[in-house]
Amino acid sequence: MTVQDVQMADLIRAGDRRALARAITLVESARADHRAQAVALLSDLGRGRQALRIGLSGTPGVGKSTFIEAFGMMLTGQGLRVAVLAVDPSSARSGGSILGDKTRMEQLSRDPRAFIRPSPSQAQMGGVARRTREAVALCEAAGFDVVLIETVGVGQSETMVAEMCDLFILLMAPAGGDELQGVKRGIMEMADIILVNKADGDLAPAASRTVADYAGALRLLRHRPQDPEGFPKAMPVSAYTGAGLDRAWADMRHLADWRRANGHWDRRRSEQAAHWFAEEVRQGLLSVLNREPARGLMRALSEDVAQGHKTPEAAASELLPLLGR
Ligand code: GDP
Repeated sequence: MTVQDVQMADLIRAGDRRALARAITLVESARADHRAQAVALLSDLGRGRQALRIGLSGTPGVGKSTFIEAFGMMLTGQGLRVAVLAVDPSSARSGGSILGDKTRMEQLSRDPRAFIRPSPSQAQMGGVARRTREAVALCEAAGFDVVLIETVGVGQSETMVAEMCDLFILLMAPAGGDELQGVKRGIMEMADIILVNKADGDLAPAASRTVADYAGALRLLRHRPQDPEGFPKAMPVSAYTGAGLDRAWADMRHLADWRRANGHWDRRRSEQAAHWFAEEVRQGLLSVLNREPARGLMRALSEDVAQGHKTPEAAASELLPLLGR
């Protein structure tokens, strides 16, 4: 560890935003020397204080940015420090980050108690997961009380975010009852609280119906031992009027406090750490496979297998010892 690294860790602990931003850029870098620095920095920061990590998912258009702006302003208004990280796996495809749009969360981004970091373009899920996880750790070290991890409701991103947060919130829009079918069961099972947004004006009646539909669907799921009575739950909010935001926050705190008091919080964090260790190892092995000489041998063996010269098992047993080196 260099003097510079130590300074960076101290600056982050002291809440220096520029140091935090630079550290996040560091963990996003794919360069080997940057990676080594990032690993050293994260170790140095260690397991200090914990923020409440809230995962927030919802399809584009449900009002995630409007919600985060209103919810975040409410929290900073209470004196809390809020970091917002965005995970946008689609940005790799579109070439730019939709969640990185500067016009989003305009008020919150000017709030000195808030820190917003848009999603960088990343080629693959493993990279996005690592970058986000490490950015969360940096924000915790920097003393934020709440870290919001936002993701669009596509692909594996929800599962990934659920694996790095303490609470998982699903934001939905008011809809006809038949649309309920569109929500995958797995996502419903991950949700601690389903917030039906846009419960205002003409949409209010539809929002009430939708809340009732989701509440019914959640009741059908098994009660989880890590939850107090009444969770998981569905409730209406309006990011426009602010209605329901304080209740949603009270419920999030209640759930978090209950889990802390009952050992579920620590257990979840431990399981998550073990999960990410296994994931790092898996990614590391994959990157070995993607480099020479393994890569060339893999291609050659694959050809042999395809042509029937070798069985898949024999070919794999030729390749696998390479990974031990
Ligand atoms: P995101 O794509 O999930 O980030 O959604 P946005 O926050 O950009 O919102 C999508 C659209 O829904 C915008 O036109 C918002 O003005 C609108 N919207 C967001 N929240 C609310 C709300 O609480 N009530 C109503 N009526 N519209 C909302």
